[in-house]
Amino acid sequence: MRRTMVAGNWKMHGTRASVAELINGLRHLALPGDVDVAVFPPFLHVGQVVDGLKGQSIQVGAQNCAVEPAQGALTGEIAPSQLVDAGCAYVLVGHSERRQLMGESDQMLNRKFAAAQACGLIPVLCIGETLEQRESGKTLEVVSRQLGSIIEELGVGAFAKAVIAYEPVWAIGTGLTATPQQAQDVHAAIRAQLAAENSEVAQGVRLLYGGSVKAANAVELFGMPDIDGGLIGGASLNADEFGAICRAAGN
Ligand code: PEP
Repeated sequence: MRRTMVAGNWKMHGTRASVAELINGLRHLALPGDVDVAVFPPFLHVGQVVDGLKGQSIQVGAQNCAVEPAQGALTGEIAPSQLVDAGCAYVLVGHSERRQLMGESDQMLNRKFAAAQACGLIPVLCIGETLEQRESGKTLEVVSRQLGSIIEELGVGAFAKAVIAYEPVWAIGTGLTATPQQAQDVHAAIRAQLAAENSEVAQGVRLLYGGSVKAANAVELFGMPDIDGGLIGGASLNADEFGAICRAAGN
């Protein structure tokens, strides 16, 4: 049985003061015991969040990492090993904002995914199609290529210790949400692609949905058989809303 997971991607938001306020809100939430909850602050605030959430059941992740596991001469980057040292358990790999705006390629993301796992971090691989790709009927082709890149490079076994987030680009930060059935169809295809290689890995891996999830639509989305929780952007900046989404993921 897969444990559901709710992950909050804070993106490039926060000051020391607003992060302190958010931490305080998170500390007061009544969270369900059967859901893994994690937050992904900007690098700058990882230490503050790790310290602030000490003793809580909420884990911390980073939004990106370098392509190499170890520290070294790579100005401006953060090594996965440094993230582990700072208290992170997870790292996002291939968020669409990084694929599109920072030009991150599948090849680069393969390296980040491998580097993260080499340090014991759990990568959360983000995949998803643009509106244009969906409208031209290419959704499954795009998602399958993004997933297949990791499978080809690292083997399907790499997903035994990873999470996948399906995030249609057209639904991120737009207020548009995939219908539960649209999301379920893609999640089922993702699981089938993994199952063609290894059914145990396919059954065990958690597939999160992301794209304008709110407390109001979470129950329906999380009720679908292949949706194991959510990756939440905007709504994760409000502790009460985030808590309600976490409760929606509980049984
Ligand atoms: C995200 O950034 O991963 C995301 C899903 O954002 P939002 O929930 O704001 O659409």
